[in-house]
Amino acid sequence: MKAGQATTAVIGGGLHGLACALALVQRGQDVVLFERSWIGRRASGATAAGVRTLWRDPAEIALSLEALDRWYRMDALVGDDCGFRAGGQIKVAESYAEMEALAARAARTRDLGFHHEELIDTRELRRLAPMISENCVGGLIARRDGAADPHRTIAAFRRAVEGQGGVIREGISVMALEPEAGGWRVVTDAGNWAVRHVINAAGAWGGQVCRMVGEAIRFGYKASMVFVTERVQQAFGPVFSTVSRPLSFKQSSQGTLVVGGGIQGWADLEKGSTQVDFRALSRGAAAAQALFPAIRNVQIVRAWTGLEGKTPDLLPVIGPSACAPGVFHTFGFSGHGFELVPLVGEIIADCIMHGRSRYDIGAFDVARLLA
Ligand SMILES: Cc1cc2nc3c(=O)[nH]c(=O)nc-3n(C[C@H](O)[C@H](O)[C@H](O)COP(=O)(O)OP(=O)(O)OC[C@H]3O[C@@H](n4cnc5c(N)ncnc54)[C@H](O)[C@@H]3O)c2cc1C
Repeated sequence: MKAGQATTAVIGGGLHGLACALALVQRGQDVVLFERSWIGRRASGATAAGVRTLWRDPAEIALSLEALDRWYRMDALVGDDCGFRAGGQIKVAESYAEMEALAARAARTRDLGFHHEELIDTRELRRLAPMISENCVGGLIARRDGAADPHRTIAAFRRAVEGQGGVIREGISVMALEPEAGGWRVVTDAGNWAVRHVINAAGAWGGQVCRMVGEAIRFGYKASMVFVTERVQQAFGPVFSTVSRPLSFKQSSQGTLVVGGGIQGWADLEKGSTQVDFRALSRGAAAAQALFPAIRNVQIVRAWTGLEGKTPDLLPVIGPSACAPGVFHTFGFSGHGFELVPLVGEIIADCIMHGRSRYDIGAFDVARLLA
């Protein structure tokens, strides 16, 4: 690759930027990826790393099932299984009214032709989670779901990109995109690059990159929190969420309990700063304890907040720009983009190289968000 020239520039060194870069270098393309701070600094490094097809928006189910198959083949894709463990994900009902809501969801999903969500009764729930509160009456399970190790995943994708000739530039901000003959000039704080295609994988800053090409969209951000406890004996295989509480609860392979699932901290997008909200954190801890009373005395050792882009309909933006030829988007995963990582890079690479993806990505078109 000549200095200052590449076929494709990727903006953003989170997992989605890395996955796009990987899919392109695997197809023989030259790629340069710009990351403002360091690889995995933002949502991808803060994630709880749940690999979840359960309870997805119907528009995302087909993609999430395709992505899940790739999690089982991760070793072939990036030379590491990324710590993926398939213990299942369960949405727990704490009342019979909630059980009815789960049954209605299972029926709707089946009517759409999907069979990955299965209703389980109290007995099966207790077999899978012997320590669960007696108030829990059943659940909805996706048995092939699970969770992975986010930092192993980041490291594996990075190695795979660089191992196949992709260029990663950390500490470089993309400041502007200017159209020029045959493509785009990528203006960075460390010089300009001439490229044919640009991929916007800028996470919470995806809306800013849209504005660089004149595409104003309705777009926000969220500041999801996670906390981790001291190590305890291995006792929890699946990942647990509930119908009515903001909770995602799992045990890591090191034995720590990892709790998140919608509890929000504070963030300032311009400064790029985030802060833990300890009141919200205590609500998350109370929710975990309500599900598993036995963890009452387990110590919390760490908590953090990660910045993530959020769209009004909580669906990501995936596909070509509505107004800038040669620009492609993959951002706005609204708190559930980790699971989709092994698939979406492939989709963007196909859009770039063949003009379309074989998957239906109509629901993720940026045009729906144009202001
Ligand atoms: C606390 C938390 C828990 C989560 N838990 C789960 C979960 O259990 N399961 C799940 O599926 N998902 C989960 N998610 C969501 C998931 O982690 C994200 O959807 C995913 O990591 C998004 O990856 P990304 O590459 O789009 O964004 P990021 O990882 O945020 O990457 C975007 C990058 O772009 C860079 N950038 C922005 N603008 C520029 C610019 N102008 N120039 C150069 N670089 C730029 C940023 O510095 C950043 O590093 C969670 C998220 C958080 C925060």
